Amino acid sequence: MARTFNLNAQCHCGTISQPIRSPPIDDLAHDFRAQESSPKKVQLCHCTSCRRSTGNLYASYYLFSPPHLENTTAYPPIPINPDRPDKIYRRHFCSTCGCHIFRSIFDKQRVKYSDVKLKASECMRWGVATGTLDDVARNVEFSDHVFVGDTKDGGAAVWLRETYRGPLSVYAHAGRDYYTGKFPPRITFSKQKHRYPHLPLLGDDQLKASCLCKAVQFHITRPTSSLQIVSPNIPDFLKGEKEKEGRWWLRENGTKYLAGLCVCRTCRLTSGFEIQPWAYVPRANISFNSPSQHASTGEEATTSTPLNLEALSAGIFTTYETSLQ
Ligand SMILES: [Zn+2]
Ligand SMILES: [Zn+2]
Ligand SMILES: [Zn+2]
Repeated sequence: MARTFNLNAQCHCGTISQPIRSPPIDDLAHDFRAQESSPKKVQLCHCTSCRRSTGNLYASYYLFSPPHLENTTAYPPIPINPDRPDKIYRRHFCSTCGCHIFRSIFDKQRVKYSDVKLKASECMRWGVATGTLDDVARNVEFSDHVFVGDTKDGGAAVWLRETYRGPLSVYAHAGRDYYTGKFPPRITFSKQKHRYPHLPLLGDDQLKASCLCKAVQFHITRPTSSLQIVSPNIPDFLKGEKEKEGRWWLRENGTKYLAGLCVCRTCRLTSGFEIQPWAYVPRANISFNSPSQHASTGEEATTSTPLNLEALSAGIFTTYETSLQ
């Protein structure tokens, strides 16, 4: 018997709030996600596109029927052309608060496995960002880490080994095949060394960062010993004793920046995901990179300037202000 459920997806500002309907049973798929049993299995995707579109260490989506897209802003702005799909993903964000809420994915394999010619809309699969759902624990089972190879160092899969429902499997690329039901080989981490088994950690002195479209590009330098550095805003969980200890944002003998995982309602409903990772880095260690032209030769170059949000050219960032709650 078909299971009925009553899920709602919502962004932080409340502009987007809509019920989520289960997708119709997919007769092409062998997939576990197409079964009507509860809870639905959801993968944690570490691919470069997911990370650079969300700012999170991974993205997770609950598959469902096409949503209403009013009041959302999409990237890429132009819909995917099913006849020439150079892009596979399209992501939708609340136009007011920026919350990432929906994703559509063009499914090339679906065309391959179907005996009949499919309409463009039948080749799209829709997902809702799991952090925007109101009853995740009861309806979603996080099952696998996928595309962990894109992270180069294992990313969150190194320390997020299990949920309360059991261990998470780890895959370098895609996980279980949606159509054949076959599993690729899994990756196992050694218990002693919390390192991704195949790739060494990078030794560069500049840690590069950018969003997917590259309008935002910056780099972080290694922690400096300067005493004049302006402290980042101290997070609530360190206020009090730790605040007096000086450079509270450094760890491991001053070689690493402190990072934290926030699960507050504001982070969840503005990012779209349950866990929002933040690193605490002073502005002096962040340089914003903008494309420029060399003054005399006209060659393309990059200008690096210390991060100053007020001085950045318009249109790069959109800001949404909210009180803590
Ligand atoms: Zn919103
Ligand atoms: Zn992905
Ligand atoms: Zn961008």
